[in-house]
Amino acid sequence: MSLYLPETKFPIQSEVSLAPYTSLRVGGKAEWYIAPENCEQLQDSLIWADKEQLPVTFLGGGSNLLISDRGLPGLVISARNFRYLKIDEEAAQMTVGAGMPLPTVAWKAAKRGWHGLEWAVGVPGTVGGSVVMNAGAHGKCMADTLVTIVIVNTDGHLERLTPEALDFRYRSSNLQYLPRWVVEATFQLQPGYSKQHVTTTTRTHLNQRRSTQPYDKPSCGSVFRNPPEQAAGWLIEQTGLKGFQVGDAQVADCHANFIVNRGQATAQDIYRVMQHVQEKVEQQWSIWLQPEVKLLGEF
Ligand SMILES: Cc1cc2nc3c(=O)[nH]c(=O)nc-3n(C[C@H](O)[C@H](O)[C@H](O)COP(=O)(O)OP(=O)(O)OC[C@H]3O[C@@H](n4cnc5c(N)ncnc54)[C@H](O)[C@@H]3O)c2cc1C
Repeated sequence: MSLYLPETKFPIQSEVSLAPYTSLRVGGKAEWYIAPENCEQLQDSLIWADKEQLPVTFLGGGSNLLISDRGLPGLVISARNFRYLKIDEEAAQMTVGAGMPLPTVAWKAAKRGWHGLEWAVGVPGTVGGSVVMNAGAHGKCMADTLVTIVIVNTDGHLERLTPEALDFRYRSSNLQYLPRWVVEATFQLQPGYSKQHVTTTTRTHLNQRRSTQPYDKPSCGSVFRNPPEQAAGWLIEQTGLKGFQVGDAQVADCHANFIVNRGQATAQDIYRVMQHVQEKVEQQWSIWLQPEVKLLGEF
C-alpha cells in the first residue's frame, strides 16, 4: 500500500522488506518506508511521522546494521536518494549529500590528487551513516576531514554544525543518541599531491582490505568495538571461535571480528552468534565485547 505525504505528495510505502537495504541481507519489513529526494520531502516525512506518532529510523547504506527479523515499527527514512557532490576547487572542499557512497567520494578526491580520504575507500557506507558512526580505518576517521554538516532537527529545521558540536570519539558521535538527520557533509581535503600518489595509496588500502576481510559474503564489517586491551578480532580468534556457526551465520575464517551470512542466515542467527562470542570471550578473558553494529528492532 502507498500513501502520499500531505505537502509534497511524495509516496510512502508500507511493509517494505529491509533485507535488500542492508549489507548483511537480513531483517524484516519496515511498517512504513520512504526515500525522500530533497529536503522538502524529508521535512514533510518527519512532520507526517510526528503527526501519526510513529517512531522514525534513519537508514544509510545499512552497512552497520542488524535489523530484527520482526522488522521495524514506524517510518524508516532512507538516504539512498540524497546523492550529490559539489566541489570547491579553490578551497579543496567537497560537499556531499548524505546518501553518497563513501568510496565514491574517496575516489573523487584521489583522482584530483587531494589527500585526506584514501582510508575511506573500503568503507561501504554512505556519507551520512559514516559521519554518525565516525567511521574510520588505517588510523584515520571521518572527524579528521570534516568541516561542517547540515542536519534536520526533529522539528524539521535545517541547522549547520561543526565537528566540535558532535562529540566525535572512536566510532561514535552524539548523532547516535540524538535523532537528527544528516543531510550533507563538507570535507576539507589537502591539495598539491600528485594524482598518481593519492590514487596508488587509495588502491593499496582497498587491496589490503580485500585480501584480509571477507568482501565476497554479506557482512556488516567489524561486529564488535575494539576494547582498550586488545583487538576484538584477536580475542575472538584466540578463543577458538573462527568458523563458529548458527544456521547460515558464521564467524569468518579470514577475520574473526566479521560474521558472514553464508546464504540463508536470519538476523536471529547472527544475534545468537554474537551472544555466543560475547559469552566465550568473557569466560576466557573477562572482557565483554561491545557491539559496533547497531541492533535495530526486537531480538
Ligand atoms: C565489508 C565492510 C567493511 C567495513 N569496514 C569498516 C571500516 O573499515 N571502518 C568503519 O568504521 N566501518 C566499517 N564498516 C561498517 C560501516 O560501513 C560503517 O559503519 C559505515 O560508516 C556505516 O554507514 P551506513 O551509511 O551504511 O550507515 P547505516 O549502517 O545505514 O547506519 C548506521 C547508523 O547511522 C544512522 N544513520 C545512517 N544515515 C543517517 C543519516 N543520514 N542521518 C542520521 N543518521 C543516519 C543509522 O540510523 C544508524 O544508527 C564496514 C562494513 C562492511 C560491510
